[in-house]
Amino acid sequence: MHDFLCPKCEGYLRVGENIIFKVKNNKKQSALLLLSPQIGNYTSHKHRTFEIETGEPLEYYCPLCNTSLISDIHKNLAHVLMLDETGVSHHVYFSLIVGEHSTFETDGDSVHIAGEDAGRYTYFKIGDKFRKYF
Ligand SMILES: [Zn+2]
Repeated sequence: MHDFLCPKCEGYLRVGENIIFKVKNNKKQSALLLLSPQIGNYTSHKHRTFEIETGEPLEYYCPLCNTSLISDIHKNLAHVLMLDETGVSHHVYFSLIVGEHSTFETDGDSVHIAGEDAGRYTYFKIGDKFRKYF
């Protein structure tokens, strides 16, 4: 069972089989969005009154400390921490564009890529340490 943490407050974002985010759509409406903790599974849950459109960027926030989770490597990618069974932390980056399936996970040594749209971000800079993998 991997835990997911906010990179700022290190609060637990995973509850049961969901990772919980606060999001805002382009009409600046706020809502909770639940994503799967399985990397590469893009199932999501939201309230029916919260309207999002394919191709729209969502602003992701930590529901605990309200920090923006936008990554510092690309404006289309959000960033969270993942703890594996052995307590090693990984950085997970995923697209904040609705309907775009790209996820990058790295423990600092290797990068794992998931999602059929991940190729859109192969050019981005993940920091000097990881650049060689892209
Ligand atoms: Zn937080």
